[in-house]
Amino acid sequence: MKKKKIIIIGAGVGGLATAIRLLSKGHDVTIYEKNSTIGGRVNVLQKQGFSFDLTASILLLPEEFKEVFRWANKNYKNYVTFKQVDPLYRIHHHEDAPLNLYSDITKCSQSLDSFSAADAKGYLRFLNDTYQKYTIANNHFLQKSYAHASEFFNFYSLINGLKLKPLSTSYSFISKYIRNKKLRDLLSFQSLLLGISPFEGPNIYTILPCVSQLYGLWYLEGGMYSYIKALEKLVNELGGIILLNSSVSEILLSNQTVIGIRTESTIEKADIVISNADFPYSIQHLIKDENARGKYTDEKLNKMKYSCSTFILYLGLNKKYPELGVHNLFMGDHFKESVEEAFTGYLPNDPVLYMYCPSCIDESVAPANMESLSITVRVPNLSFHRIKWDHKTIDTLRSQILNQISKIKGLGDIKEHIVFEDYLTPLDLFKRFNAYHGTAFGLSPTLTQSLYFRPSIKSPNVKNLYFVGSSVHPGAGISLVLLSSRLVAEEILKNI
Ligand SMILES: Cc1cc2nc3c(=O)[nH]c(=O)nc-3n(C[C@H](O)[C@H](O)[C@H](O)COP(=O)(O)OP(=O)(O)OC[C@H]3O[C@@H](n4cnc5c(N)ncnc54)[C@H](O)[C@@H]3O)c2cc1C
Repeated sequence: MKKKKIIIIGAGVGGLATAIRLLSKGHDVTIYEKNSTIGGRVNVLQKQGFSFDLTASILLLPEEFKEVFRWANKNYKNYVTFKQVDPLYRIHHHEDAPLNLYSDITKCSQSLDSFSAADAKGYLRFLNDTYQKYTIANNHFLQKSYAHASEFFNFYSLINGLKLKPLSTSYSFISKYIRNKKLRDLLSFQSLLLGISPFEGPNIYTILPCVSQLYGLWYLEGGMYSYIKALEKLVNELGGIILLNSSVSEILLSNQTVIGIRTESTIEKADIVISNADFPYSIQHLIKDENARGKYTDEKLNKMKYSCSTFILYLGLNKKYPELGVHNLFMGDHFKESVEEAFTGYLPNDPVLYMYCPSCIDESVAPANMESLSITVRVPNLSFHRIKWDHKTIDTLRSQILNQISKIKGLGDIKEHIVFEDYLTPLDLFKRFNAYHGTAFGLSPTLTQSLYFRPSIKSPNVKNLYFVGSSVHPGAGISLVLLSSRLVAEEILKNI
């Protein structure tokens, strides 16, 4: 096999993992990253002794994280340390004590039993039925590259697709098993982890609460950014090059074949280019030849559906709050309205809060006796022009969030203990990472934008051009992006 010169645009988790896979097969790989730090959306904010994971915090499907190291014949234990998170989630209410969802299934059933006995049984049935969906989706759909139409349009896909029965929404699927509204809201919330509304999206995303329960939620010592540092270390060990502050302005083509890239200061030749920049951005800004864009015209990109975005408030607190677990939810009284607002262009009046407090199990992320807490609220992406991300909007959301939190038992004095604060808006995701419309999770994984119908990891129009990341198959979330990096590497290795 001849050594290829490969350029990757973007040092997000997708770009770094793809680099490792191709470097370990002997290729020459250079990553061009526009920012001064690597990791893309998986980044870190470090101030005054506090360390905040900038965005992603929930680690699902740890095997995908480990597999990148196995691919390169390395032991992941020499790079990262996993800790199991228990309880998986702590659900806070104004009036009651928090409900814990434990990773141990017996303990979890007991916890649910005290909350709603009928639903404890319903939850077990839900897990059983959803696990079957997960195995079908994983074995027959997610692991395929869909670089060729025949991988999708065949008898087996049809049969297995019918078995998935994906047509009802996540919320109505969950409601078949669970009667209690708070528990329904909690399980439905998890489809928001991919930026899709449980009231709209296909019910296949109920696999998220199922795999969280069955495979656990995990934490990496030092936070999620430790994974990025681990990938960086391995890229360096394998001889890869990462160029920071190097924004790519064009993917260069000749006769519908990739020949290299252009940055502000240079032109670099390559045999293969892989764009880890968000797919719609890559198509719109990096490919100048209309024919090479194929069906993805500006009109088509505008018509496609995009996931919601997020507003995050980062708080450094000079007090410990034993009421907080690592992953906390506060559902509020208007879950449906609050979720729907994020998808219809309005800011929530009664926001659903996801509160991440890693300092309760990792003392390296906050000074002694302090907490690092980030609070995430789902908000509309930038395609809804109604919202201006100025100080007024930020102040309003900040006050709403702090007022909600202050009503939670044990957190009433939180405002008095803030010693550091910062925030992240959709505009930051857009400007900093070129996330199209400033979404958190890229193209929405609707039925018509999934599997073969999602943008492919391999350009159908340009030879030797590939894509990796949230907006291409199989989708968003670190574990799926890592899977996408494997599918890209396998496809490239098959074609050279
Ligand atoms: C708020 C939030 C919360 C999330 N929570 C979770 C979670 O709990 N669990 C989970 O698994 N996932 C979560 N996700 C999703 C996860 O973070 C993403 O799916 C994943 O990080 C995307 O990685 P990527 O490699 O596709 O792209 P990105 O991270 O977007 O990386 C793309 C890279 O390309 C660079 N780039 C762009 N344009 C250019 C250019 N022209 N030239 C050079 N470089 C360029 C960017 O700067 C960036 O570094 C969350 C995301 C957000 C935003």
